[in-house]
Amino acid sequence: MNILLVGSGGREHALAWKIAQSPLLTRMVAAPGNPGMAALCETRAVAATDVDALVALAGEIAADLVVIGPEVSVAAGLADALQAVGVPCFGPSAQAGQLESSKAFTKAFADRYGLPTAAYVVCDDAAAARAALDRFEAPYVIKADGLAAGKGVVIAPTRAEAETAIDDALGGRFGAAGARVVIEEFLEGEIGSLFALCDGETSMLFGWAQDHKRAFDGEQGPNTGGMGAYSPAPVFTPELVEQVRTRLVEPAFAGIAADGAPYRGVLFVELMATRHGPKLVEFNVRFGDPECQVLMLRLESDLVPYLLACATGTLKDLPAPLWRDEAAVCVVVAATGYPDTPKSGGEIRGADQDFGPDGVVFHAGTRRDDGILRASGGRVLNACGRGSDLKAALDRAYGAIERIDFADGFFRRDIGWRALARSASASRR
Ligand code: AMP
Repeated sequence: MNILLVGSGGREHALAWKIAQSPLLTRMVAAPGNPGMAALCETRAVAATDVDALVALAGEIAADLVVIGPEVSVAAGLADALQAVGVPCFGPSAQAGQLESSKAFTKAFADRYGLPTAAYVVCDDAAAARAALDRFEAPYVIKADGLAAGKGVVIAPTRAEAETAIDDALGGRFGAAGARVVIEEFLEGEIGSLFALCDGETSMLFGWAQDHKRAFDGEQGPNTGGMGAYSPAPVFTPELVEQVRTRLVEPAFAGIAADGAPYRGVLFVELMATRHGPKLVEFNVRFGDPECQVLMLRLESDLVPYLLACATGTLKDLPAPLWRDEAAVCVVVAATGYPDTPKSGGEIRGADQDFGPDGVVFHAGTRRDDGILRASGGRVLNACGRGSDLKAALDRAYGAIERIDFADGFFRRDIGWRALARSASASRR
């Protein structure tokens, strides 16, 4: 098969790494890809939002399948354009993509189809938004409506900070993404990420993980796109998984189909496991980054048949995927100053060495200048490890970071702390 993979981050490097292991693969081209992906496949300098050029590239390489990595390509209508020319595409239409591109849309969708989620109001002017705070208690949750690369959410401990967050968003901090804000009830519980595939009709769960959104150790600092992830995550008891499937996943796929936009691709359900069961925090219309990285390390089955089945409506013919009975972890190495002002251009050495069968470092935001690897984004590298348990996986990931020279980077040293704390308390019992 010829596969065009769209995107350039750690998620796409992990997808490329797994796709490259498929016996079904003839040729893989990544657009635009990154220097890490360039070691696995051809790369073409076509932006992930340049729909016309991507459709032309799919034609040029006679793609049997296009795999969309990032949400920006979904929002740009890439799946719609490929469907119009008959190229199978893993990734939903722009209409279905509103489940991620507008939080206000998703909240209304959840209400319409009875999906449990936090109480909320949507406002597009600062005075109304400030007044709406009366209806909530601290901590306040303020979200930019549109796509803000995971950075548009502020959990404000005080009313004054909530008002600042409202003024920032409506004042243009996130551009058009912040022209409306969603204020919502703070949910108490543990966060989790669950993935489900759908081909328009049939759906299938496709793994779960937990990530760390805050920039610094101890869940301190601003929200980020994600600083690390691990799987399996003990929060996902069989009971919780079943509740998420019946209360969130299946109603979401049925609802979006009833809205006239049957879903083809992967739906990422970010949920809070509360005392009252799972509540939707948000949907994303693509794999999570960095959750995808740990799922790819744990996925035993060939990925390609699942991607193709979503694109061609044949998911009912496939068995549930097989997962390795091992733990996997991803530690994000970010550029100093991330998420607000990441320092670009820092030199990186040693990222492309062989880290053994259970270690791999994915590129997330890098570029190569005259043969020198440099940071070019907020999240720069993803050090991943696999092992018999979480501790062993963490040792591999942190061991890989020690072997890399990147003076302008930082990373969290406590990835997986919740799961480690649980197993420590279980072994004391
Ligand atoms: P989001 O960008 O919607 O995934 O939100 C980023 C992070 O903010 C989530 O991973 C949660 O940790 C937190 N968060 C979002 N919404 C809520 C909420 N209603 N209650 C508590 N925490 C939240």
